[in-house]
Amino acid sequence: MTRRSDIHFPKPRVLSITQATELGTLYTPGELQALGELARRFDLRVHMDGARYANAVAALDIPPAELSWKAGVDVLTFGGTKNGMAVGEAVIFFDRAQADEFDYRCKQAGQLASKMRFLSAPWIGLLENGALLRHAAHANRCAQILAEGLAQVPGVRLMHPRQANAVFVEMDPALIAGLKQTGWHFYTFIGSGHARFMCSWATLEADIQAVLSDLHALAERG
Ligand SMILES: *Cc1c(COP(=O)(O)O)cnc(C)c1O
Repeated sequence: MTRRSDIHFPKPRVLSITQATELGTLYTPGELQALGELARRFDLRVHMDGARYANAVAALDIPPAELSWKAGVDVLTFGGTKNGMAVGEAVIFFDRAQADEFDYRCKQAGQLASKMRFLSAPWIGLLENGALLRHAAHANRCAQILAEGLAQVPGVRLMHPRQANAVFVEMDPALIAGLKQTGWHFYTFIGSGHARFMCSWATLEADIQAVLSDLHALAERG
């Protein structure tokens, strides 16, 4: 933010943070407050990428406002895709003035779908009876079971605390290769020997037990 202020350098205007984070961890309301104060000191707006916002709200078990506008967030992209919608996220401006001409910017960016109501309607289903948080809590609970199970496998070590629906582990490369050969698909883009597992609203406990049991079998084989 303070490195350069000349015309040949991008001018920072926004602090954008992700909740839950890309490491599967959570910002507490206190941390968000501190970041918000820092941002305001430098005249930056605060944007929250909430692709997994519901998972954060469910995990911390506090009102959604405590993790957004009350904690200094100006704009929240509120994700539906990862909690049961086919597609779509809601962009929420807590200060309407900042949404000025947002509809035009959406269209210019190619983000205006025809029959938008078909993308918007599922939000009603997710929000009117608590399905959103129920889905998120299910995903979080599955990740907890998975994290506890993975920690028991020889050659597997948790990289970050499991706080939402993601589990990051360091794994013996032979285990990673073996698990992939067994037919499991998972990401290893974090780096060699590292794997990311995500649990969703649709994860079954039986699937978690199956992957754990395959891992134990591979670990025993050495
Ligand atoms: C998945 C993901 C997105 C994209 O989410 P959509 O709801 O499909 O737009 C954006 N940011 C993060 C951090 C994500 O994990």
